[in-house]
Amino acid sequence: DLILFWHRGDLRVSDNIGLSVARQKSSHIAGLFCIDKDILSRDDVAPARVKYMIGCLAELEQSYQSLGSKLLIVQGKPVKVIPQLAKTLKAKAVYWNLDVEPYSKKRDREVATALEENEITVATFWDKLLHYPGEVLTQSEAPYKVYTPFWRNWNQQAKPAIAKNLESLQGLEDTDIEGVIKLPTAELLGFKWDNPLLLKPGEKAAKEQLEHFCDRSIYEYDEQRNFPWVNGTSLLSAALKFGAIGIRTVWQATTEALTNCRSDEAKENIITWQKELAWREFYQHCLHFFPELEQGAYRKEFKEFPWDNNQSHFQAWCEGKTGYPIVDAAMRQLNETGWMHNRCRMIVASFLTKDLIIDWQWGEKYFMQKLFDGDLASNNGGWQWSASSGMDPKPLRIFNPASQAQKFDPEAEYIREWLPELRSIDTECLVTGKITDLERYSCNYPQKIVDHKVQQRKFKELYKQQKE
Ligand code: FAD
Repeated sequence: DLILFWHRGDLRVSDNIGLSVARQKSSHIAGLFCIDKDILSRDDVAPARVKYMIGCLAELEQSYQSLGSKLLIVQGKPVKVIPQLAKTLKAKAVYWNLDVEPYSKKRDREVATALEENEITVATFWDKLLHYPGEVLTQSEAPYKVYTPFWRNWNQQAKPAIAKNLESLQGLEDTDIEGVIKLPTAELLGFKWDNPLLLKPGEKAAKEQLEHFCDRSIYEYDEQRNFPWVNGTSLLSAALKFGAIGIRTVWQATTEALTNCRSDEAKENIITWQKELAWREFYQHCLHFFPELEQGAYRKEFKEFPWDNNQSHFQAWCEGKTGYPIVDAAMRQLNETGWMHNRCRMIVASFLTKDLIIDWQWGEKYFMQKLFDGDLASNNGGWQWSASSGMDPKPLRIFNPASQAQKFDPEAEYIREWLPELRSIDTECLVTGKITDLERYSCNYPQKIVDHKVQQRKFKELYKQQKE
């Protein structure tokens, strides 16, 4: 009885709930991945993300081979190609792990219907979260809209154990299957990304990275995580997005770290990291219960906000040419690596929305076009938080780029790393942004495109009008 296991945001064989259940039912399992042109033809796909995904798939192919089976790659509309393949192979069932994105939910319903019409069994599972939507609700059984009470409830609940590992699988006899293609490269799909990825794709690299992070950095996370020039965070975001690592495996590593450490201070650091994992789950739950978040602002004050939307300002922001060193350094890091430090994501998002008064959705989209960890729920959540348009009741967050740099890049190490043209400028000037016109000219560095104080006043005024 052949079961096809459809991989999506779970590009791994270990600690995979759906796959593990499938294995309990049958040893005759083949993996399946569908290259969905509807996703890849969107205008917010980052080449770095595709490169990471293809790398994960290459390793997944090998994992299936060493288990004695295969990963089948198909291309096209899932609702057509998946039932077709299942019929060709006379599969008994198709299993998969669920996702919260509105597109995925709709697609999954359609695929399930098409399969069931052909009398092929469908089974779905929650795998990507420690607690799935509906498991963490308020006393009145409503979804949380605010993070802190969500975290308290989420944290109290017992966490699931790592899913059972797979034993060997029974392979497919057919070698040449209609519709099955060779795994294409990212370039072949039209996505070129030549710079190194900060995290190598695949399960093995993700596990090594987790171990590396839990060896040391996790014990100092609280102190180090805010400094963009320090390697103080896990760099696991892309692995979590594509499921190169199971969330239960990650959680277990944190509980082991807690057992290993003696000081309360070190424990606090680990808990801070666990809180970040809970932020990820919070945003996934929010998107599940409030799919309208994908379309725009949650709060009414921002539904018709009179944004300036100045195209050349937006261009300058994208290219890291705003004349504000901390903002520009961050945007250059994004453009060159496909990743940006969390502190800087908050700084540039605040700058785009509050200083340039540009619609946060422009920034949200630009991030998706660049980030190799780009994820609808976390990115939308992060942008709505920064724009103050989301569910969080604290309405207005305006970051001052100079004070942010003073606090989090006091020696201008991050700024100098990403803005080499400014290396010779005095640290104090780099941090405060007080660089003379002459220096800007001789370093070929732009003038400030706006004045922070003026824009802050203007934004507050516009916001007040919207609230009235
Ligand atoms: P760590 O500090 O090691 O955190 C561990 C994990 O927790 C991360 O890998 C991530 O999965 C999760 N996490 C941490 N912080 C957050 C957060 N604020 N919200 C949700 N999950 C979090 N994260 C993404 O994964 N994809 C995105 O597209 C994304 N866009 C963002 C946009 C904005 C405007 C902001 C402010 C934040 C965004 N984040 C996004 C959250 C955060 O910046 C990244 O998860 C983090 O920088 C990734 O680095 P790391 O893996 O080293 O994180």
